[in-house]
Amino acid sequence: MELVIGKDNQTLRQKSLPVKKMDADLHALISQMQKTMKENDGIGLAAIQIGVPLRVIVCEVNDKMYSLINPEIVKLSSETSTFEEGCLSLPGIYGEVERPEKVTVKATNLDGKKVKIKAFDLLARVVQHEIDHLDGILFIDKASNIREDKRQTTAL
Ligand code: ZN
Repeated sequence: MELVIGKDNQTLRQKSLPVKKMDADLHALISQMQKTMKENDGIGLAAIQIGVPLRVIVCEVNDKMYSLINPEIVKLSSETSTFEEGCLSLPGIYGEVERPEKVTVKATNLDGKKVKIKAFDLLARVVQHEIDHLDGILFIDKASNIREDKRQTTAL
């Protein structure tokens, strides 16, 4: 599936809707998202980045794949860290984003079970970046020192 690209692309500004049904279509969507993320060397992807306005994110950090349905941040640490981010939907654009260092997320997993994840470091960052996508927020809205660089590095 094609990635939705461009900082002025209005699709990326849409607010995604909660998933109501765990069905075969949802499983197909998640496999497609994992495939698109890997093919593009990303470490995270939100469904809206392939044009589907549903609250689903995938991320792969430290060789572990997370597929989260209706993810919700329930706790953020007061300590923050600043790190350079990129985005598969904004190729060649990078910027430093300050975010809480730790985050607790509630979601439903692929088996339909409720899960609670305590994330820190890179995973915490990726999860916050992807949940922002579900609310139509791009990292450039929060970033400082935005720069353009054609070399591809890690993108979320
Ligand atoms: Zn992104």
